[in-house]
Amino acid sequence: METYNINMEQKMTRFNEVCKNAGIKLTHQRMEIFKEVAGSKAHPDAESVFRGVHERMPTLSQDTVYRTLWLLKDLGLITTVGVSRERTRFDGNIHPHHHFVCSRCGSTYDFHSRELDELNLPDQIKDMGRADDFQVTVKGVCKDCSDS
Ligand SMILES: [Zn+2]
Ligand SMILES: [Zn+2]
Repeated sequence: METYNINMEQKMTRFNEVCKNAGIKLTHQRMEIFKEVAGSKAHPDAESVFRGVHERMPTLSQDTVYRTLWLLKDLGLITTVGVSRERTRFDGNIHPHHHFVCSRCGSTYDFHSRELDELNLPDQIKDMGRADDFQVTVKGVCKDCSDS
């Protein structure tokens, strides 16, 4: 698994701060689950996070992993990609960014575009509710899948 070594220290500092401010106990389990998402570029779903953490902490239950992921998401420490709650992928990159999703293998890559960040949302959206943020998803076939 590829890791974001550069940001990891910063991410852990923020994790500590946010948990402390929210009055949430800094358990070893929570830290490992956060690390699994924050250190991954793969946008893992809950299943994959569980498998990754389970190797290091065999006593950890799947239920705890699920609950912790949604807790981390509520705290703003991670974000989610996609709409469906069962197959939600978690994202350790909380800075504004967009995604390229391969329709064959499901690989999800981050990309950045200031132009897209500043996109004007249509007025229609005001009738639907308050928009907090948005992401552009580009669908296609990734290099690995088109080479084979
Ligand atoms: Zn692919
Ligand atoms: Zn992302």
